[in-house]
Amino acid sequence: MPNERVYNFAAGPSILPLPVLERAAKEITNYDGSGMSVMEMSHRSKLYEKIFNGTQQKLRTALKIPDNYKILFLQGGATLQFAAVPMNLIGRTGKADYAITGNFSQNAYKEAKKYGEVRIAASSADRDHVYIPKQADIDPDPDASYFHYCGNNTVYGTEWKYIPDVGDVPLVCDMSSHILSKPVDVSRYGVIYAGAQKNMSGAGLTVVIVREDLAGHAIPETPTVMDYKIQIEKNAMYNTPPAYNVYILGLVLDWLADLGGVEEMEKIKSKRAALLYDYIDNSGMFIARADKDSRSDMNVTFRTESEELDKKFIREAAAAGFVNLEGYRTLGGMRVSIYNAMPMEGVEKLVDFMGAFEKNN
Ligand SMILES: *Cc1c(COP(=O)(O)O)cnc(C)c1O
Repeated sequence: MPNERVYNFAAGPSILPLPVLERAAKEITNYDGSGMSVMEMSHRSKLYEKIFNGTQQKLRTALKIPDNYKILFLQGGATLQFAAVPMNLIGRTGKADYAITGNFSQNAYKEAKKYGEVRIAASSADRDHVYIPKQADIDPDPDASYFHYCGNNTVYGTEWKYIPDVGDVPLVCDMSSHILSKPVDVSRYGVIYAGAQKNMSGAGLTVVIVREDLAGHAIPETPTVMDYKIQIEKNAMYNTPPAYNVYILGLVLDWLADLGGVEEMEKIKSKRAALLYDYIDNSGMFIARADKDSRSDMNVTFRTESEELDKKFIREAAAAGFVNLEGYRTLGGMRVSIYNAMPMEGVEKLVDFMGAFEKNN
């Protein structure tokens, strides 16, 4: 199918809405009569400023972000935030709490240990991260500068269904793989961050939402470009922002608003995931990985009884136009990433394909 779009179930970078790509294609050589591409534009130009500030405003509207939170569009991926978060926040008490529910939260924890006294306040490592700890399993330190967790575990396919209660300690959440999939009470958080390539835009843009009073306490070694306070003062333009990906995010937010916003997206993504999980639970061949009450609506992980059969399934699915179904390289099995842009039809057809595969094998 060389000239057709496939159903791309990649974990990231991942599918973007077709209308967004088509509009970007239309505007690629001449944006809004400027005679140039957004990619070729000075980030200090009036026209680009309008795109940048407009996209911030669209995100503020989409997630109902209160005024005392600043929106930064930065480079470096979620991984750079693994360092930026402790550098900016740990100075208050020198201590921080982490919940370990997968590889990304583990990496964030390891990075933070370079900057202070960092403690594991909750973990699902005892059962290889098939579940999310309950509130009663969390042991928060009231003296921690912040509590960090990863809202959706992209690799393991689990998702926090509640916001942990850690008293007055600011919550920091890595929302890379489920931001914009449902409403979020931003006022419960100190910092929210997300790499854009899962649910928002292209790789290279990182969205950071910071409660303003938490900025301004960075440890002295903090690189200037990573200092929230300085980025806030410069409206996230201390250096060149990932300009084109910010523009794409703006188009994605227009698309989402036309659809009914995150409230509507929550209904869609719940339905999409339920379709797949129901099929897997009733199947005689496929076995879901995560505990029922902890399953991610974005990354569905499962396997068969045999690695051979997993491989055959992945191969035949790809030939039929359902691509990138292999599980994370250390986990094996299958992973179906169903981000916002995946149409319901993609999951319906995948389930049909799974049914036919089960019958034939
Ligand atoms: C993909 C991902 C990351 C890593 O993002 P980069 O942009 O590659 O740094 C971190 N956290 C989560 C939850 C992810 O899904």
